[in-house]
Amino acid sequence: MTEMVKQIKRRGVSHEPGLPTLEMKHVSVAYAAGANDVTSARSTQYAVEDVTFRVGAGERIAIVGPNGAGKSTLLKLIVGTLKPSQGEIDIFGHGPDGHICIAYVPQRSQIDWSFPVTVEDVVMMGRAGQIGFFRWPRRADWQVVKACLARVNATHLAKKQIGELSGGQQQRVFIARALAQEAELLLLDEPLTGLDIPSQDAIFEVLESLRPDGVTVVVSTHDLNMAAERFDRVMLINRKVVALGEGTAVLTTENLMTAYGGHMHVVGDDMLLADTCCDHGEENQ
Ligand code: ADP
Ligand code: MG
Repeated sequence: MTEMVKQIKRRGVSHEPGLPTLEMKHVSVAYAAGANDVTSARSTQYAVEDVTFRVGAGERIAIVGPNGAGKSTLLKLIVGTLKPSQGEIDIFGHGPDGHICIAYVPQRSQIDWSFPVTVEDVVMMGRAGQIGFFRWPRRADWQVVKACLARVNATHLAKKQIGELSGGQQQRVFIARALAQEAELLLLDEPLTGLDIPSQDAIFEVLESLRPDGVTVVVSTHDLNMAAERFDRVMLINRKVVALGEGTAVLTTENLMTAYGGHMHVVGDDMLLADTCCDHGEENQ
């Protein structure tokens, strides 16, 4: 696929060589009106506050934290649908706007699955940035779509309506769309929530297969074990970054108490997290 893809001219913002895939410097954001007013900053309730971190090419980062910690907000800041109230975000040295290299898969609850569209059309939508808006997809684009569906083991689903798929299949199709987009930064918001273990494994297999391409992956998840086992680094947040680093170093009892506070009950050496799944009644955009 890669050769075919390379023949098609790149569009979007150019990348500065040598700069990190993603960099946030002292980023804060508040949803409330007036959040950009520095004079009222003292009383502002930030959804995320003073977040600073860097992600290198090909890294796998898991963002964990309780409901309302700001995980989805962080991803929306990176993709550029939400602007920071303060601080700076750079993707390959440029602000988030105009990049076609960023693919974002929102939480499943945020997608209208009854929308009448087939799997192959969803994946072709990923080509829009490469194709441009003034020409129809060429045969080469359909070949890319086919190759991307094959990479996520979804060839047999091509003609199905997106709403007919299981949760795991839907995630794989959206990853295929990111591949068709030739994304270099893949953002997945809670892709594992509600999936059984084989479906989760299938997603990790696909994500692993992207490593040789240097695709950077940032995933929000409630699953602390999964975060520690399957990702290069874990970011534990509750509005502010509590810790960022290798999983076992980050997910200590002390850090988890800081992040989850009253929502965590410690029983002996085992920790039971009471606030760990299903964002019921979320008020995301
Ligand atoms: P998480 O994904 O970790 O559950 P979110 O990023 O969705 O957290 O939310 C962080 C905070 O921002 C929460 O307090 C939430 O209520 C608030 N929030 C999220 N989306 C909106 C919105 N569209 N308008 C107002 N507040 C919001
Ligand atoms: Mg969320």
